[in-house]
Formats: sequence, C-alpha cells, structure tokens
Amino acid sequence: MNANELQQLLLDKLGADCVVTAPSDLVAWTTDWRGMYHGQAAAVVRPRTTEDVAACVALCAAHGVPVVPRGGNTGLCGAATPDQNPLNVVLSLDRMNAIVSVDPVANTMVVQAGCILGDLQRAAEEHGRLFPLSLAAEDSCQIGGNLATNAGGVNVVRYGMVRDLVLGLEVVLPSGEIWNGLRTLRKDNTGYDLKQLFLGSEGTLGIITAAALRIFPATKSRAVALVAIDTPQHALDLFSIMFERCAGRIDAFEYFSGDCLELVLGVTPSLRRPFAEPHAGYVLVELGDSGEAEVLHELLENALGDALERECCSDVAVASSLAQACALWQLREDISEAQRVDGPHLKHDVSLPIERIPAFIEAARQRLFAQFPDLRLFVFGHLGDGNLHYNVSRPRDAAPDYFTSCGDAVTDIILDEVARQDGSFSAEHGIGQLKRKHLRAYKSALEIRMMEDLKRTFDPKGIMNPGKIL
Ligand SMILES: Cc1cc2nc3c(=O)[nH]c(=O)nc-3n(C[C@H](O)[C@H](O)[C@H](O)COP(=O)(O)OP(=O)(O)OC[C@H]3O[C@@H](n4cnc5c(N)ncnc54)[C@H](O)[C@@H]3O)c2cc1C
Repeated sequence: MNANELQQLLLDKLGADCVVTAPSDLVAWTTDWRGMYHGQAAAVVRPRTTEDVAACVALCAAHGVPVVPRGGNTGLCGAATPDQNPLNVVLSLDRMNAIVSVDPVANTMVVQAGCILGDLQRAAEEHGRLFPLSLAAEDSCQIGGNLATNAGGVNVVRYGMVRDLVLGLEVVLPSGEIWNGLRTLRKDNTGYDLKQLFLGSEGTLGIITAAALRIFPATKSRAVALVAIDTPQHALDLFSIMFERCAGRIDAFEYFSGDCLELVLGVTPSLRRPFAEPHAGYVLVELGDSGEAEVLHELLENALGDALERECCSDVAVASSLAQACALWQLREDISEAQRVDGPHLKHDVSLPIERIPAFIEAARQRLFAQFPDLRLFVFGHLGDGNLHYNVSRPRDAAPDYFTSCGDAVTDIILDEVARQDGSFSAEHGIGQLKRKHLRAYKSALEIRMMEDLKRTFDPKGIMNPGKIL
C-alpha cells in the first residue's frame, strides 16, 4: 500500500473532517517542539470520539500501519514524533477535550485524554478542588500525554507522580478494541493493575482516550521561602526538618545551585538578588494548606528557625506577599530559560535515592572536571523527590558546537555515576527516541526481556509508536 491509498482508506472510514493529508499541514505534526526530531507521516487523524480512535487503529492494524499517538507535543524525548516511515499515521487527541464530570464528594474527575492540563486544574478549582499535577508546560500539554509519560512536576513531593493520581483509564488497544477501565474506585484488588501498564508507556501499548483522576481539597493558603544553604547535605538536613515539622503540607522543595542563580540574574538583571551575598546553593520551599494563612506562615517560620538554629541553613527569605512568593519562584523557574539563552547545553534528568544526592553531586563533579575542567555545571531540581536536572554547559569561550565531539563522553560520565549511586537516568521525561540506548545500557537483560514480552503481548504487530522506548 502506498501513502495515497492509505489516505483514501482513512478518508473513507473517518471523513475529511478528521483526516489531514496536505504535506504543508503535516510538517507541524511530524516535528517535536524543540525541532530536534523530524519524521514522516501519510496523514494526521484528529478524531472526536473513542469510537473514531478505535476505527482508525483497527484500520491501521489491519494493514500493519504504524500509529503515533500525539498529545500537546511538549515531550522532551522525541516520543511523539514519527520515524521516517512514509506510512505513519499520527493520531492526535486534541479534539477529545471534554471534561466529562467533576465530583467534589467522591473527589474524582473524569476527562477525555485531549484536555489541556491547565484546563483540568481550572475545572477542579471551580469546584473548590485541586488537581495537583503542575509543570511549566501545563497550558500546552494534554492529560493523555501526561499519563503516557507518567509526568512529574513540582508537586510530586506531596501528591506523587501522575500515576498516583489515576483511578481508571479508557484505552484503545493496538487491535482497535476499546478497554473500558474508566472506574473511579479507590479499592479494586482484582488481579493485575492493568491501567498502570499504560502509564509511562509513551503510547507504545495503546491510546489512552479518557481517565478517571483523583482531586484534592483546594489550596487556600501558601507560604513560600527561599533558604540559602552551604552544601547539598544541608539541603537534605533542611528537608528532614521540614518533613518532621510540616509533613503533609510541603507542596514543593526545590534545590538550585548558586551558579544557577547567578546565571538567571545575569540573563535578567532586573530580577532582585534575594540575599545580600551569593551562597553556594538555595532551597525554595512552599507549604500549602486548606486552612488559615497565618497558621501556615507560623509553621514555616518556626521550622526555618529550627533549621537556622541547627545550622543547616545560612539565611532565609520568607515571602510576605503573593508578589514576593512569585518573585522567589521566578528565580527557580527561569533557570531553564537562562540556560537556553546561554547557549547549547546537555540536559540530564536523573533521580537518586535522596540520601545519596550530596555524594552524587560531588562524585559527578570530580569525575567531570578530571576530564573536562572548564565545563560549567547547573544543578537544580525537585530535591524532595530525589530528582535532579544535572545540566552541563560548555566552557565560557568554547564554540557553540563544543558538545558535538564530547557530549556523549560527558553524558556517559554522569549516567555512569547515577548508576553507581543506584539512581535512574530518566526521572520524569521518559525514554522516547532520545534515551533508547541508555535503556539498553542501564536496564538489566531481564528487565528488557519483560518489557519486550509485554510489548509483544499488547502489540504483536508492532504498530503502536514504533521506535520509542524499546
Ligand atoms: C517547558 C517545559 C517544562 C516541562 N516540565 C516538565 C516537568 O516538570 N515534569 C515532567 O514530567 N515533564 C515536563 N515536561 C515534559 C512534558 O511536558 C511532559 O512529558 C508532558 O507530560 C507531555 O505531554 P504532551 O501532551 O505534550 O505529550 P506529547 O509530547 O504529545 O507526547 C508524549 C508521549 O506520550 C504519547 N501520548 C500522547 N498522548 C497520548 C495518549 N492519549 N495516549 C497514549 N499515548 C499518548 C506520545 O506518543 C509520546 O510518546 C516539560 C516540558 C516543557 C516543554
């Protein structure tokens, strides 16, 4: 079958309203948002119903045509970009964006997979509830993509990864059958937990069409502080104190090195330096509660007072207004943008057993500088979850293509140290196309075999998002 014949079959089955075939229109659907990956496709299908999704997948299965599920295209590993097969069909969920129900008694929400994450947050808020998944791409990414990548974000320390927020799923399997697992039960011990297999599977086992999600009491008050620390170990000691004193209310516990702050201030000089002197590192801590703001602030201030007394921090700036809280958050949130402005760099989204973070930071630094003494390190991340963005920028005077020759060697040193410390080479961002070789390098042969067996069981024809993960 050639691309024209495939397009005609899709048009006959689904109608012109659902099928995009013009080559100029396809470009945007076959490129990832960073422009790192470019693929090919015969068509983009934009269904409005689960039955349309099933019809499309059944047609593709019958002809052995690859299907690439597509959410908001904000993924960072090229997982939603098709490969070079001209017969690929990109299946976009963007029109399946209905919020089916919000139940503030059961504290559940049922939604279609194409809903934009920010819209879900706002819908929960309208009912006095919180949907806690939050990340910088929230006004572009879709919940289906979040589920397929098991997204994390800034609130994991309190609410867990997105897989912890899911009660049920509806999925179109690679055969075209519809699995209705859209249950809202909190307890359902009836054998294997099938929904968990699809979470984090990056569209390789099926297409998520709807989800039943947990929601929580809305956060009515917030208390935010920036804490200056001398060493990563002090950040951990601080975490321990905060956990003892404020357990259950820590919404975010974010670390960034002094170099990250200097980079941000250098790129945006209008931002205010939070302390008179620069420090080796910083922790941004946010508490949230459904009760009184005064009580929460007192809790935060007492805990930080304790931390100062125990000498695990050297200075503290507590936000006394929303504007101040936002200004402190901006220092953390602007790091990625400042790195982009600074130029090409290597990103490593790694996780570690939390108690090993100080040892990892030091060992990785020493090993890198032994071989590449002029590199610049920008280390930040969701410390409360053991998740670090261990990013590396080229030496100050090096050419922009510096990493073309040595990037792999730099990454190998870092990921080898992650493995030595029993960590993971991909904490939040998944595998996609970008990290397939790392999966082979760091997973055991037994783990790979179990994953391949699962893939074969669900997708014996290998049509679902080929070339991703495995
Ligand atoms: C500025 C920025 C900040 C980010 N911050 C974070 C962060 O803090 N934490 C984090 O975890 N990620 C983060 N990300 C990465 C990204 O936002 C997440 O991976 C997000 O979950 C992807 O959702 P998406 O809808 O854009 O999915 P896409 O990029 O479209 O797709 C991602 C994968 O999911 C599959 N997929 C999409 N929809 C479905 C579906 N309905 N059924 C089955 N498979 C599907 C695709 O095939 C692909 O494999 C960030 C990205 C950006 C650009």
